[in-house]
Amino acid sequence: MIEIDEKLVKKVEEYEDELYRKIENKELTLCEMCEDVFPYKPQKRFCDACLKRRRYLRQKDYAKRDYVVAKRKTGSALSKKQEYDLARRNEWKDKNPIQQKLCPACDKMFTPKTRNPKIKYCSAECRNLKYKVKKE
Ligand SMILES: [Zn+2]
Ligand SMILES: [Zn+2]
Repeated sequence: MIEIDEKLVKKVEEYEDELYRKIENKELTLCEMCEDVFPYKPQKRFCDACLKRRRYLRQKDYAKRDYVVAKRKTGSALSKKQEYDLARRNEWKDKNPIQQKLCPACDKMFTPKTRNPKIKYCSAECRNLKYKVKKE
């Protein structure tokens, strides 16, 4: 059996009573995070240690975010992305070569310079020829 020191229990109870009385009287405040007590100050909800810790954690968060943003904006990161995009584009071009088309004006196969589907004629002359034919 553990012997309970009645005197000590009473002392603790008295101490707690005193504490709560002081908290009620706004002489002391109970920290919302660690339940430590500190001298009352209006609007102050956390003890100094907890405030410090909160501030530190927030600064760490900010620092981390700033670092990530700064890193994303650096020139090397940008050019890396551009390099990657260019490589992807070239890869796609290699896999999808420009298809030959049949010119409807001169009936010749030709390779257009771009993938633009609007390109139908092998040359400007053929295109003009077609328009002339249409007009007549
Ligand atoms: Zn605290
Ligand atoms: Zn043509």
